[in-house]
Amino acid sequence: MEFMRNAGCQIAEGATVYVVGVNDRRVLIPDGLFPVETFGFGLAQDGIPLGELDGIPVVAVSRSVESSDQIEEPGWLGLRDMLQVSDNAVIEASILAVQRLEFRDSTRFCSRCASAMEQLSDTGRKCSGCSHVMYPLVTPAVLVLIEDQNRRTLLAQKDGWGNRFSVIAGFVEPGESLEQCCVREALEEVGVTVSDVRYVGSQPWPFPHQLMVAFRVRWVSGAIKRDELELSDARWFSSDALPELPPTIALSRTLIQHWIDYPSYP
Ligand SMILES: [Zn+2]
Repeated sequence: MEFMRNAGCQIAEGATVYVVGVNDRRVLIPDGLFPVETFGFGLAQDGIPLGELDGIPVVAVSRSVESSDQIEEPGWLGLRDMLQVSDNAVIEASILAVQRLEFRDSTRFCSRCASAMEQLSDTGRKCSGCSHVMYPLVTPAVLVLIEDQNRRTLLAQKDGWGNRFSVIAGFVEPGESLEQCCVREALEEVGVTVSDVRYVGSQPWPFPHQLMVAFRVRWVSGAIKRDELELSDARWFSSDALPELPPTIALSRTLIQHWIDYPSYP
């Protein structure tokens, strides 16, 4: 399936649409796909048009449930479960639905003057009083795979991870480039100096609204000196003796696999 996002799309009354029903960050997907409805007054009032899924308009809408048990019934999927089982187009539409609805519901009134906020033709919202404009929040974070010249990588562990190790990670700060963030995080979290920041890939991670961006960097100097508040362990591992790694849906795993598959890059 293919999802084409289009926040400003106009939907004709009576059109057949996919409805992404959301409740508490869960999405109603009875048989692996969103229910189909006829676009009418209710959806026009309360729904948020997201775009098209294989040519059919998609509308996000908050769905109330009669009891908390009902949300546990088959058909409602949490985003985390969805990442493991669903079609990529369905995942993309679901993440967008959850975050657009959360954004609308948390920006009903202006944070500066408390006037009502109005929807713009794109994803933004504008204050009817002071014209303050807001857009849905996306928070960039880097994943940093540190490698040395001896085919070793530096992986770390946090409390609660069991035996699993992963690459180091951190949020981008205001005024900082992604490359600067990688260098800073390596120094802060494990005490090593790195260079040659090379992009590998990215992944939206809606918990609650991160964009993960993965890089490989080369170790330059320094012995491991971990941030003891952040990390419970940090060690060098050879490619032929790796510990338990993150699940395959995580970009951190893709990044480690990239290092395994492509020893020199570039
Ligand atoms: Zn305002």
